[in-house]
Amino acid sequence: MKTYRIATIPGDGIGKEVIPAGRRIMQELAAQDGLRFEFQDFDWGGDYYRKHGVMMPADGLDALRDQDAILFGSAGDPHIADHITLWGLRLKICQGFDQYANVRPTRILPGIDAPLKRCTPEQLNWVIVRENSEGEYSGVGGRVHQGHPIEAATDVSIMTRAGVERILRFAFKLAQSRPRKLLTVITKSNAQRHAMVMWDEIALQVSREFPDVTWDKELVDAATARMVNRPASLDTIVATNLHADILSDLAAALAGSLGIAPTGNIDPERRYPSMFEPIHGSAFDIMGKGLANPVGTFWSVVMLLEHLGETQAAARLMQAIESVTADPQLHTGDLGGSATTGQVTEAVCAKLAALAPAKAA
Ligand code: ATP
Repeated sequence: MKTYRIATIPGDGIGKEVIPAGRRIMQELAAQDGLRFEFQDFDWGGDYYRKHGVMMPADGLDALRDQDAILFGSAGDPHIADHITLWGLRLKICQGFDQYANVRPTRILPGIDAPLKRCTPEQLNWVIVRENSEGEYSGVGGRVHQGHPIEAATDVSIMTRAGVERILRFAFKLAQSRPRKLLTVITKSNAQRHAMVMWDEIALQVSREFPDVTWDKELVDAATARMVNRPASLDTIVATNLHADILSDLAAALAGSLGIAPTGNIDPERRYPSMFEPIHGSAFDIMGKGLANPVGTFWSVVMLLEHLGETQAAARLMQAIESVTADPQLHTGDLGGSATTGQVTEAVCAKLAALAPAKAA
């Protein structure tokens, strides 16, 4: 029996509630079908920063390097600047392990009341691929003459041929693996006439390797309207770091709640562990009350299992999640219900038990 080593990093706020719930689900799965997980928990985040002045230790990546995957909660603290919490932990891992493909599936799960009234759940089934290593969030720039009238600040968006090529190739491959084989490449080459023009040119070049994939280009501003007005015209979507960051929050809202949406930060070459996390943040307004929706974490566990090649366990967990979201009694506050994190978690565990493969006599 293969043992998977899983690092858990709850981080801040409700991450400390949803990650133990995710772990509980994985233990339940392991108990049922020949899987074994060895968890190692890391207490990095805002509290660690208060004690040590850093969000994670300098040699933190070494402790994660041999893990098979990472399950991450959230990083964010009302008393610590956002750029410190983000760059000091999550981005350190994403960049340190070259997790250049950020993958965000979006669907309207059964029982979820999504805001698009004219859209059936079948019409909204997207995967957004976000470039996760360069572009607008390269971290290159500077600030001079602080506080003076001549103060200046820059954030330079860096796009490299190698970086653009690899993310577009990943997106075409993903589109090819999905039933509709349909890809939309998001751009802004009308206004940004250097890097985005290169992005468009590389998209055309890479597309020639995938003759069976139908693809089109859409300006990022027009894409927001298209997501609302013609959701069924989209399937796989690829965009730069900033563009996809914004589009995927819109996608999560259109699917019913931020509390449901999952994401994977993937190193497609598998040189390093990939990291899976709910897309919501630390949500300090509801932390410690047992109100957090754990579904975003559970769906992230589905992605983690798929990445490990455990497709049967992943499918079973997704089925359990969907049967729980279908029941309004099991909706948390973000979905208009009053169920607690614990109740949703136990309901998913019970469903998993009911769906468990029959043990050989
Ligand atoms: P951060 O600064 O870490 O990004 P945030 O609190 O500004 O976090 P989010 O946590 O992403 O932003 O979410 C905004 C709001 O959505 C929260 O304040 C919370 O009320 C709600 N929310 C987010 N995630 C969940 C969840 N899993 N369950 C219930 N409500 C949620």
